[in-house]
Amino acid sequence: MDKHNFDVAIVGAGTAGTAAAIKLRQNNLKVCLMDVRDFSKRRIGESLPGAALRLLNSLGISGLDELMDDESFQACMGNISSWGSEHWQYSDAMRNPEGGGWHILRNEFDLSLLKKAQTMGAVFLPTKLGKIESLKTGHRLFIKSPLTGQAEQIKAHWLIDATGRSRSLAKHFGVKQLQSHSQFAAIAWIKTPESDQDQQTKIKTVPNGWWYTALLPDRTRVIVFHGLPKDIAFKVKNPNQFFLSFNAAQLIPYETDTDLLLEKIIARDASASRLEQPIGKNWLSIGDACLAFDPISSQGMFFAMYSGIIGAETIKNAMEQNGHGQNQYSEKIKKVYRHNQSQRQYFYQMENRFLNKPYWQQYHSSLPTTA
Ligand SMILES: Cc1cc2nc3c(=O)[nH]c(=O)nc-3n(C[C@H](O)[C@H](O)[C@H](O)COP(=O)(O)OP(=O)(O)OC[C@H]3O[C@@H](n4cnc5c(N)ncnc54)[C@H](O)[C@@H]3O)c2cc1C
Repeated sequence: MDKHNFDVAIVGAGTAGTAAAIKLRQNNLKVCLMDVRDFSKRRIGESLPGAALRLLNSLGISGLDELMDDESFQACMGNISSWGSEHWQYSDAMRNPEGGGWHILRNEFDLSLLKKAQTMGAVFLPTKLGKIESLKTGHRLFIKSPLTGQAEQIKAHWLIDATGRSRSLAKHFGVKQLQSHSQFAAIAWIKTPESDQDQQTKIKTVPNGWWYTALLPDRTRVIVFHGLPKDIAFKVKNPNQFFLSFNAAQLIPYETDTDLLLEKIIARDASASRLEQPIGKNWLSIGDACLAFDPISSQGMFFAMYSGIIGAETIKNAMEQNGHGQNQYSEKIKKVYRHNQSQRQYFYQMENRFLNKPYWQQYHSSLPTTA
């Protein structure tokens, strides 16, 4: 094999793509990953559950301290939520055998997984995927060379779609995307006062959606509001209103305002969605590209790693056994989806104080809709 031929090409170097690259390298497959992302930029998704340690172990990583420096992660001491009632419910880390997990700097986490994959021999191409041609025994990919800027071709037996919610490869292969009710998130990162030491995740429902906030290891705080697209658009355009409603919800003991903002408030799709088929002829999808969770579950990164690992194992088995094992991959993904969907339904239907409000009405009338 030369430098343009790979067993597997992974498009997207987020948590899912990098976990898959590590697993494929553990199995000695020749791998490349491509992404155009700026790894120094803040990224949403900071709560990593304690159970993620088992997945990291399976990638040959003993713990977060092996992956990142101490300033990039800190223990989450538990969750406090006011959901379905005005009273706060505590779920502290001490009572969970796997601990409360961590709050991490997400960009650092993904970058450290990428470095690990590179150390193990994965080739990183800081470029975007262009055209794809499917061949008899794999695929030909057209990219812009990161070194020369010239058009270049690479060949791979298998392709992995790890492009997150953009699902670039699945779109190319014409696979249908199924989406539940509409939900967007408005995300703000703020500076915090020295007195803010609260290492718990806080969640609270309000008539038009729900808030969550968490302190991050670099002493910034992320504040997120989930609601209908028009409410999110309004909050993003009117940061004053964002902070007025956050202060009114009383999740933290001090007032916030636009002066604390570290960058502009951003909006992200936060609906639950999935691909009708997660695997096809010599390609499969992992992470959000395959199945994107409602953020209430805090399982996006866990699933990104899990699907990266089982996706890599499926490819290894298929290469050894002439394409077998594809149904098992679909079945495993469907099982995760069904489990998550029933938990989500249960959770949203616990909130029945705001049934005259459009945001909550949609959950009570149409769950589950991505089945
Ligand atoms: C508001 C909100 C809060 C969340 N909070 C949490 C949380 O606390 N905990 C948690 O576990 N999860 C959380 N999630 C979910 C979590 O962020 C995602 O599940 C996770 O990022 C999925 O990882 P991924 O690797 O599949 O995709 P991504 O992280 O989206 O990575 C995809 C990568 O693909 C690259 N890419 C895309 N298209 C191309 C292309 N054509 N060519 C090359 N590269 C491409 C992108 O640049 C990107 O780097 C949250 C999500 C939202 C919306």
